[in-house]
Amino acid sequence: MTDRRTELAARLAALQVRIEAACAEVDRDPGEVTTVVVTKFFPTSDVLHLLDLGVQDIGENRDQEASIKLAGVRAARPDATVRLHFVGQLQTNKAGSVAGYADVVHAVDRPKLVGALDRAAGRAGRRLVALVQVSLDPPGAQGRAGVEPSGAAELADLVAAAEHLDLAGVMGVAPLGGDPDRAFAELARAARGIRQQHPAASWMSAGMSADLEAAIRHGATHLRVGTAILGSRQSLR
Ligand SMILES: *Cc1c(COP(=O)(O)O)cnc(C)c1O
Repeated sequence: MTDRRTELAARLAALQVRIEAACAEVDRDPGEVTTVVVTKFFPTSDVLHLLDLGVQDIGENRDQEASIKLAGVRAARPDATVRLHFVGQLQTNKAGSVAGYADVVHAVDRPKLVGALDRAAGRAGRRLVALVQVSLDPPGAQGRAGVEPSGAAELADLVAAAEHLDLAGVMGVAPLGGDPDRAFAELARAARGIRQQHPAASWMSAGMSADLEAAIRHGATHLRVGTAILGSRQSLR
């Protein structure tokens, strides 16, 4: 094994220990928790190591980087299972491109994007799994995206009605410097509200390197983990 692969294997193992410990505290089965490894800023070679180490869910947040990297990965590992999760903010004019290669779009935050993704998926002859991003920031805060919790159910209805989108659940990012337990409790509340109308919308995409234990406490089914596996992104810029 290369040094890099050994390093990634060790970090994946350490992450698994964290996940199992966090699940044990709240009596959850670690098997219900999927890790999406966020590889943004890291090279295709790292994605190949991850696939060879058993990772199947890869997250990216920029269209061009994601599409180029995924093409390289598919060329190098034509038989590997790889699901591409688009975890970033998505501009409507990029929806056409992303719908052509992503399997899951985590940050559906407005009606216009629902329409754009649905049409693009239809044109591409594909279905997309879609998550409603719920804003977990204090009301009125500047900053991160997401629909207000009070509007989440209505947006979920739109996603569910879209012909080429499959509503899977919710996604959230805890505010920087805020209390992640409070944020993820709010996300869990939004998820329950949506499930009243859409019982199959069981996913909760929450938790990053720094706050995944809190996310697991509140029912996260999909963690989005970058730094804890790949290392600091700063050093690459
Ligand atoms: C980059 C990113 C992550 C991963 O964050 P880490 O702190 O590196 O684990 C998770 N979610 C989103 C939306 C991201 O953009």
